[in-house]
Amino acid sequence: MTQIQHTVSLKALNSFGIQAYAKHFSVADSIEGLQSILNWQKIQKTPLLVLGGGSNMLFTKNYDGLVLQNALKGIDLVKEDDQYYYVKAMAGENWHAFVCHCVEHQYQGLENLSLIPGNVGASPMQNIGAYGVEIKDVFESLEAIHIQDQSIHVFNHQQCQFGYRDSIFKQSLKQQFIILSVTFKLRKQPIYNTSYGNIEQALAQMNITKPDMASIAKAVIQIRQQKLPDPKNIGNAGSFFKNPIISNQLFETLKQAHPTIPGFPINHTNTTKVPAAWLIEQAGFKGFRSGDAGCYPLQPLVLVNYGNASGAAIFELSATIIDRVNRQFNIVLEREVNIY
Ligand code: FAD
Ligand code: NAP
Repeated sequence: MTQIQHTVSLKALNSFGIQAYAKHFSVADSIEGLQSILNWQKIQKTPLLVLGGGSNMLFTKNYDGLVLQNALKGIDLVKEDDQYYYVKAMAGENWHAFVCHCVEHQYQGLENLSLIPGNVGASPMQNIGAYGVEIKDVFESLEAIHIQDQSIHVFNHQQCQFGYRDSIFKQSLKQQFIILSVTFKLRKQPIYNTSYGNIEQALAQMNITKPDMASIAKAVIQIRQQKLPDPKNIGNAGSFFKNPIISNQLFETLKQAHPTIPGFPINHTNTTKVPAAWLIEQAGFKGFRSGDAGCYPLQPLVLVNYGNASGAAIFELSATIIDRVNRQFNIVLEREVNIY
């Protein structure tokens, strides 16, 4: 039977460690259980928020509705051909544990995405990415249930409309579907991507001359542990802002005034991606702290909760940063974290 709890603290369920309460709360560990929770929600006419690992959200107030934690489990090799393994993971599987499973079984392609917090179900939401790899590079399809009529749909690659930290589920289908499972198309033969960031340097430090999946995963884990705050110790949701993509024209103008501005031209477009961390540092926020809300000293793109910051205080800091960066560089930073 479906269990609905009332007035539940979400503090341990969001990586920012923000104290906020859900008016109603339930956990779905089967599709039937999930359908029965959706029936209850429909009868109650209460708003619904789907929760995975809570590592990409900021609660600025209590949630006046039902928070549904997706805890569907299971990993299956559903098909293979000459070149690929097709691996289906249920939405409630922990992302990093799933990556480790793939590394162990030699299903190639996810190693650069090691140690990203959260669950499999949220991974297509913002087309998670790191060190030159995005979900879209290895995505085959996903299954999702429509919240209103409970019909189950399969979305292929094209239908997901993946973009930079973006998909159709953050745009026109926002809050309409619950992702149930994701199927990945993972290579049998390795094509390693070590050119990005300092992966090669980390491999050299580990004395690895012939990298494989496991050593790349290890290098990525090591780099991330050195640079990013562990939410177990310091509350955060990773990069708070997206890295802005601006016209080449604006980039050239900015370069004249700020010759050291870094930029990565995006192929076949007239645009350049500028690291938001650089802009935030130039605006004077690296290591900034006001009460328990701050900008992480080693990576200013990460806003942090040093203890008892409210979600509203973190949000306010983000608004101040947006304003300052805009005034200094004529670039409006966009929040990557989902605000509730
Ligand atoms: P949640 O925070 O629970 O949810 C995120 C959004 O997806 C919410 O809107 C929620 O309603 C929705 N949602 C969740 N599950 C489902 C579902 N099954 N169906 C429908 N909607 C759903 N992200 C990157 O892209 N790259 C990184 O390298 C990266 N590094 C990070 C490092 C740290 C230290 C932290 C804290 C975060 C990092 N992130 C990164 C952000 C975050 O880990 C990812 O966005 C992750 O995919 C969020 O997963 P989650 O399960 O925690 O989602
Ligand atoms: P980094 O390696 O210092 O890079 C800083 C910025 O430069 C990022 O905007 C990155 O873009 C860009 N960049 C670096 N090398 C590039 C290249 N060869 N080609 C194109 N763009 C390049 O960044 P970091 O903060 O240490 O993070 C490392 C990786 O993990 C990045 O991919 C980052 O996106 C990811 N990450 C994401 C989150 C999150 O919450 N979303 C949190 C932590 C780390 P991209 O961001 O597009 O890669």
